[in-house]
Amino acid sequence: MRKTTEKILEAAQGRFWEYAEVGFGDIEFSEEVAAACRANYCGNYGKCWQCPPNVGTPEEQKKRFSAYPQAFVFTTKHDVEDSFDIEGMAAARVEHERVEDMIRPALPEGSVVLGAGGCNVCEKCAYPEPCRFPEKARSSVEACGINVVSLAKTAKIHYTNGENTVTYFTLVFLGANET
Ligand code: SF4
Repeated sequence: MRKTTEKILEAAQGRFWEYAEVGFGDIEFSEEVAAACRANYCGNYGKCWQCPPNVGTPEEQKKRFSAYPQAFVFTTKHDVEDSFDIEGMAAARVEHERVEDMIRPALPEGSVVLGAGGCNVCEKCAYPEPCRFPEKARSSVEACGINVVSLAKTAKIHYTNGENTVTYFTLVFLGANET
């Protein structure tokens, strides 16, 4: 186990459901994921600085992250009432992001954290005006064109965890002084 992983696990205080060390080669940047974003089921396409097309193509993201040979992925699992429990899912996302924030101090400098869903720092994104909080803005795994299903398979962690649960993913590209 990498020293960085030990530090991350310590910072997470047992809040992960599953986790794995992965390498850049384990991560698939997919035009299909970009196409799903273009279909705009979430309504954020072209409306947020941290969502497509403003973040660039999967090919551009692949080039960007090729400078990060090592990465770390974790999930949190949450109970919800049913698949229509939007409030429960939103609360679960807040909980997931709390765990994400817990591990940030343990990450090597220069790490990039990709979480779940679009940036939710502001109630309404400032786009096309300049981002209000570039230091706080949250980017997501899917927005960068990363195929989470194939990542879960490669990392040997579960993409879903049963009826009436929601599972959120965070992928961290680890900074250069990772050990
Ligand atoms: S921090 Fe605010 S303005 Fe910046 S990307 Fe996020 S939601 Fe948009």
